[in-house]
Order: sequence, then C-alpha cells, then structure tokens
Amino acid sequence: MQTASDFPGILQVAIPSPLPQIFDYLPPLGCEVDRVEPGMRVRVPFGRSQKIGVIVALVNDSQFGRARLKPALELLDDNALVSPDIQALAQWASRYYHYPLGEVLAATLPTLLRQGDEAKVSGEKVWSLNAAGMAVVHESLKRAPRQLALLQLLQKLEKPLNAGALDVQFENWRGIMRNLVDKGWIELAEQTTLIVPAAETSRAPELNSAQQAACDAIDNALGGFESLLLDGVTGSGKTEVYFSAVEQVLRAGQQALILVPEIGLTPQLLKRFQARFAVPIALLHSGLNDKARMNSWLQARAGDAPIIIGTRSAVFTPMKNLGIILIDEEHDLSFKQQEGFRYHARDVAIRRAQQAGIPIVLGSATPSLESLHNARQGRFQHLLLPERAGNAAPPKIRLLDVCQQKLTEGFSSMMLQAIRHHLDKGQQVLLFLNRRGYAPTLICHDCGWLANCKRCDAHMILHKSRHLLRCHHCDSQRRIDDQCPDCGSVDLRPLGQGTERAAEALVELFPNNEIIRIDRDSTRRKGALQAVLKQVEGGKGQILLGTQMLAKGHHLPNVTLVGILDADQGLFGLDFRSSERMGQLIIQVAGRAGRGESRGEVLIQTHHPEHPLLNGIITHDYGRFASDLLVERSQAMLPPFRHIAVLRAEASSREMPNEFLSAARDMGFQLPKPAELLGPIPAGMEKRAGRYRAQLLIQADNRAQLHNFLRHWLPQLSQLAQAKKVRWSIDVDAMELS
Ligand code: ADP
Ligand code: ZN
Ligand code: ZN
Repeated sequence: MQTASDFPGILQVAIPSPLPQIFDYLPPLGCEVDRVEPGMRVRVPFGRSQKIGVIVALVNDSQFGRARLKPALELLDDNALVSPDIQALAQWASRYYHYPLGEVLAATLPTLLRQGDEAKVSGEKVWSLNAAGMAVVHESLKRAPRQLALLQLLQKLEKPLNAGALDVQFENWRGIMRNLVDKGWIELAEQTTLIVPAAETSRAPELNSAQQAACDAIDNALGGFESLLLDGVTGSGKTEVYFSAVEQVLRAGQQALILVPEIGLTPQLLKRFQARFAVPIALLHSGLNDKARMNSWLQARAGDAPIIIGTRSAVFTPMKNLGIILIDEEHDLSFKQQEGFRYHARDVAIRRAQQAGIPIVLGSATPSLESLHNARQGRFQHLLLPERAGNAAPPKIRLLDVCQQKLTEGFSSMMLQAIRHHLDKGQQVLLFLNRRGYAPTLICHDCGWLANCKRCDAHMILHKSRHLLRCHHCDSQRRIDDQCPDCGSVDLRPLGQGTERAAEALVELFPNNEIIRIDRDSTRRKGALQAVLKQVEGGKGQILLGTQMLAKGHHLPNVTLVGILDADQGLFGLDFRSSERMGQLIIQVAGRAGRGESRGEVLIQTHHPEHPLLNGIITHDYGRFASDLLVERSQAMLPPFRHIAVLRAEASSREMPNEFLSAARDMGFQLPKPAELLGPIPAGMEKRAGRYRAQLLIQADNRAQLHNFLRHWLPQLSQLAQAKKVRWSIDVDAMELS
C-alpha cells in the first residue's frame, strides 16, 4: 500500500472563495492513493481557517513546487460525490458565467454536503396507524371531524407517510396528528426510503391532435439531444404532454428532471404529478429542510427517485440515468439567479441535455423572446398547442378606458358591474393588482411630502394592518408617521392602491361574498397558499384578489372573470424587457379565466387604451405580440440579437462605482478585440440599501466574441486601484438592467 509520502499525485482542489484559481494540495496523510478520484470532497487548510473543496484533478506537478504544498486534512467521500457529468457541467458554467469553479461546485451541492456532512440518506419521520388505529370505529370520532378525516386517510393508504406527503394531502395536519398520537393510534418511525405519496393514480384523458403531435415529437427526440419549445396557450394541456413524455422515460427505466419556477407557488403541478405517477418523487426546493434536501439529492443520484421536481438549483442534481429535462414556465425570471453565481437554470439545463445526449422540453404559454428566437432560427423544435384542451374556450379580453371615469377605490363602474354579474351566477372572480401592501406610499395632503425610504431611491409602502411603512427593496421599516416631517400637518393620506387596500374596499362593496387575498403577505405561513387554493377549488361566489403569485399556472376552473386593475404600471418601464414581462404577466393572468366549462371574460383597466402593446396583447395572440417585440429588439440591436453582460459596481459614495466602471471601460478599450462598452450609467434605482449603484453594459454580436473579451478583461479588473473601493460583479446574459 502506498502512503502519502510516496504518493506521486497532487490534488487540485476547487474551493469556494472569490479567488478564481484552483488550489494544489498534497493528499491527506495516511491516505490510500488509489481511493482518490476527482469529484470527492476534501477538507483543506485555507489561510487561517479550513474549507471544504472538491477535487477536480490529480496531477503530478505543481507550479508552486511540491515542497511548498500543504497536505489536505481529510478525504470526506469514498467515491466521487460530484459525478463526472456534473463536474463537466460546473466547469462549463464556471467559464460561461465567469464565476469561480469552487463556488460553482459548492452551489451544486445541498447545504449539508457543502458543510461536510456524510453523504448518506438519513432517516426521516414517518407516521402510520398501529393495529389500534386501524380498528378505530368511525362513529367514535363523530365530534372530531378533522381527526376522523386524517384517520380515514391513513386507514385508506395503509402505509407510512412522511411530512412532505402529509403536507400535500392534509392541511395543518400536525396538530391533528398529535391528537391521534395521544390516543395511542399512531406509530412513529424513521424511514430512509422514499415514499410514494399518491393513493390512486389518475388516468390520462384522450389527447387532442395537437397534444398528440407534441407527444410524438418528444418521443422521437428521446435518446438524443434536442431542444423542444412547447408553446401552448394557457389551458392547452401542456401538463398532459409532460406526463406522456415522463411516462415514456420511466418506461425506459430512466429518470425525468422537472424544473419549475417556485414550488411554493405551484403546489398543484406537484399534486398532479403525484396523482399520475405511482413512483417516488424527489423534491428539491427551498421550502424543504436541509436534511430533506440532502435526501432528495442523494436519492436522485442513486437512481431511487425516477422523478425529480425542483426549482432553479435542482438543475445541478446528479442523476444516475437521466432521460429528459422539462422546464415548466420557461419564461419565468426566477430561473435566473440574480446574485452571486448568476446562472440561468434554463440555459444550464440546455447545456446539460446536450452533454447527456437527451432532449429538453421548454414549456410556456408565453415563451421568452430568447426561446422564440431560437425556435424561429431552427435551433429549437417548435411545438404548438394553439387551442385550449377539452371544452374550454379562450377568454374574451376587453380594455376598459378609465380616463375621466369616476373610480371607487380603484374600481371603475364597468368593472364593478361585471364583478357583480359573474358573482350572481355563482362563479368566481379573480382580480389582479401587482402591488402588495395597503398603498404604494403616504403623501402629505398639505405640502406633498412623500414617505421615502432613507436608504433607497424608493417609496415606503404602507402596510396598514401592521401599522408599518416598509421598503420592499431593503426591508427597512418604521411606524407610520402621524405628522408630516416637513410641514407638521397631520393630514397624511395613502397614495395609490395596493392589495390590502383593494381587499378592504371589496369587503365594503361586496359584503355578502368571500374575499380571498393572495400575496406574499397573506401567504407567508408555510402551507398557507396550498390551504387557500384548496379553499378556492370548491368555492363559489368568491373574489380572489392577488399579485403575480396568482399568475403562476394555477388551474382555477370556477373563475370566469379576470379583472386587471392597473395595466399601466408595466407600460413605461425602463428596462428593455419590461414590455415582454408585462405582456407575459397579463396573458398568464388572463389565462386563469374560463378554464372550466363556462367561457371566461377578461377586463383590463387602463389609461392608455390605444397603447399598441396592450392592443397586441388583447388580440390574445402572444406569437404576434412577441414577433412585434422581436422586430423592435432586432432594430435596437438588443438580445436575443446581440449578447450582453453587465458589469455592476456599488459603494457607499456616488462617485466610486462610476470611477471604477470608467477605469474598467478604458481598460477594455485597450484590449485587442474589444466588445462594445456602454456607460457607465447609474442603475435604475441608483441608491439601494444605503449604497450607490452603477453599471456598464457590454455587448457583442456573438457569444464567442463576448466571452473572449470577458476572459481577457475580467482578470485585469481586480488589479485596478478603484476595484478595492467598490463591490463589483459581472452578470452574463443579464435579465434586468435595473
Ligand atoms: P396548461 O398547463 O397548458 O395551462 P393544463 O395541463 O393545466 O394546461 O390543462 C388544462 C385543463 O385541461 C386541465 O384540467 C386538464 O386536465 C385538461 N385537459 C388537458 N388535456 C385534455 C384533453 N386532451 N382532454 C380533456 N381535458 C384535457
Ligand atoms: Zn407636509
Ligand atoms: Zn429601502
């Protein structure tokens, strides 16, 4: 056996740190050499502390000389924790996003593994009925209907359930479970295997011809790399197409990876998967605790979970035998990480599919302009579902001109009439207002003073029920002023309308109907959104009022009227993507109308009924709307026609970011093949959380040119004297220029 002293190799270790380089170490003392392979974690001395890194290569020489190297302290794995394909993906992502490999590799690992825990599935609690519980006579629980319901569920399933499975099947089950435990009916155990949560599986409906064609195209693509854009109007049955694809993949003994924007916002999709497939489903999202996340990750890696559903970072989940990647709502911004390692999960997923030689399906009713452009260029296969599935007809969309109209708390009389009409028919109404809180700010009626955030260029939002003014950008808050700090007047009034205020008005206007508010404030509690959606599912005569949380793919079959209270917010945004966003949002919200038997109606309040953007949207043809935007983008030489990156800087003074970026720009001009550099300009919101922000835009005609430039330019920036006085970062394929 060899020992460390005669071990020929040197470990190259990627360590999470702002430094881009890889670090060389000797193997740990007493380490068996043949055990070591790339992908294992290793604990190493680093500066005055220790860090956990991932071995990326074994080499024979170090540029620093063997004698100067320190031995690593401990090998943490028996075999490669980071599989070779994920190592390759991380290498690519590190180069593409110009972010240190050590940080990228760390981002692919669940927290506990990043911290050095043993890579072992650990037990989680499961609840099941014992013999006494199975024998309970239902009559004895007549006066405890919730306990009875939970007992019946457990009796019916006849198998242990974990917290995740209980969460989807039974609201607020913990208290009730405790009652059953107290009665001596429950057996609590630790279980390490995945649980199949659904009781019975639902059957597929007969697919329509467009769905069938899409399924066939995906079937044909299996076994090789191809990107397919599933471009289907809201309610067109995209989920059925996903199911069919997953079914094929499972039949071949492979795994499916499904990425969704925010699992917390799409409990329904998850439920539908669980109802369709009687196989273990591993979940990966931020709502899980660290242990559960690690378990899911390990089970995906071991091949024990055939279906993996997760949010952005799940794109890096190792998979024993991956057969397909699906991305639902591919246009959603949450796939792009906006800080630190600024990757786009969709683009990483495409790269992953290419490396693995498997198809990737991007689904949306409102595809991103990037994906549409790729489809039109023939790089993606374009699958269209132009009509709603089943009997549902597309909703009728109308603009309501509110200029010179008398508004009651933000509602025009036409809107109120329509709401009443639909409620009278026992249907549900969904009202969309993309501003949470009571009002966007507070104004002094005597002198015009506005409540601004002291740390940001932004208003403080009034949250009346909590007696607070709050900044949604830096989270600072203070008690509502009772006097104007400028003129001393006590006549301070809310200015504008948020969901809290609209809900208050609706309670007055429709005292006999149930008003349900859905926004981040009202659904903060875990499981709250699920509970509300359930309440909505069976309900009649209700008004649902909410923010963009309501736009996210929910299937609400009893909603027949969708009212958009203020469409003007997004029309004049500063960002070149604001029109695209606004269109997507309106179409997604409108898509909630009339998904059941009755035809839906959509009313949009606006002061700009002649605006071409709105008119493009109401023809309900996203394809045409997007085509117009693509023409504009091509004329303006913007993405997807050109490739961009943004160099951002922030500091406590206004001048420093500007000086750093100017120096960076001048340095860039000197390079042999410069990209186009525009700026620096102040960020859309220049001051945020007490810091001043500015940016420099980098543009190039093609990716290679952009990356070539960045590769030469970025390493030099840290050498600039100004670099030490700012916090700076590079954002490749930036989605927001604000
Ligand atoms: P999308 O995700 O495209 O918005 P969904 O997959 O949620 O659409 O489907 C909308 C509704 O139509 C669902 O209730 C679904 O069960 C139903 N549906 C889908 N395909 C069919 C079909 N071929 N026949 C009948 N109903 C269908
Ligand atoms: Zn005043
Ligand atoms: Zn602030």
